[in-house]
Amino acid sequence: MTLPSLRESLEAHGLMAKKSFGQHFLLDLNVTRKIVRLGQEGGNSFDGQVVIEVGPGPGGLTRAALESEATYVLAVEKDARFIDLLTELDTAYPGRFGVVEADALKVNEPALLAERGLPPQAHLVSNLPYNVGTPLLIKWLTGPWQPKSLTLMFQLEVALRVVAPVGDDDYGRLGVISQVLCVCEKLMDLPARAFTPPPKVDSAVVRLIPRAERPDARVIHNLETLTAAAFGQRRKMLRASLKALGGETLLAKVGIDPTLRAENISPADFLRLAEAL
Ligand code: SAM
Repeated sequence: MTLPSLRESLEAHGLMAKKSFGQHFLLDLNVTRKIVRLGQEGGNSFDGQVVIEVGPGPGGLTRAALESEATYVLAVEKDARFIDLLTELDTAYPGRFGVVEADALKVNEPALLAERGLPPQAHLVSNLPYNVGTPLLIKWLTGPWQPKSLTLMFQLEVALRVVAPVGDDDYGRLGVISQVLCVCEKLMDLPARAFTPPPKVDSAVVRLIPRAERPDARVIHNLETLTAAAFGQRRKMLRASLKALGGETLLAKVGIDPTLRAENISPADFLRLAEAL
């Protein structure tokens, strides 16, 4: 079955982007195919695996994921208006596509997968709605379910924070938590004009691959507490910003100079602090 173009699909269903859902569409399949291709580079192939896509909208990224060797693409879309349009993909890719109308912040991914008889592990792909991009990333990083990999479009500013090296102006809580738990890489930049309608800011695709050694839930919780305190007062020395968490005693335990500031502490050192807390 030949699918209509994404623009034709939108027109046929009388659909326009809605600001309240953070809708900025990628209507060029060359771009969405590139995102799916880059997401699979370096041995992260989707072959024989399940892909979950959050916010499929008109389905440009969904189509690219379906063109991969993934066995199944499960899309989670909050805007009910898109469900009929997306269901048409089931005709083009019988038995390989499903769509759930739900808020991705609230869904229980393992339950969604189990309901369809799919394995509990899946790769995540998303052109994220800007207003919920960071909370969704934190959910997948620190929550009970971890994707096999995350290939995510963010507004550029957030993408830079995820991959920022220690000492960089963008280095902060999001970078530390992301980099302790995952290998993070910025894959490509996209100007605002690549989207319909164009947002006010540029975007970038980031890939995160969870590290084989995952700290336990207590250490992850400590990491969240420590980074909140340290970067909440990023101009202060650690002995002051971490005072309520043990300050100099905690820092001495792991051999970190108490006069340093949060921006000078590497993700690996934050992990050692979280283990010692
Ligand atoms: N993937 C499409 C593309 O690249 O053209 C659409 C991307 S658009 C930036 C974000 C999409 O996420 C929209 O379809 C929007 O309706 C959906 N969305 C917004 N908030 C959501 C949420 N909490 N859960 C699931 N989908 C959501």
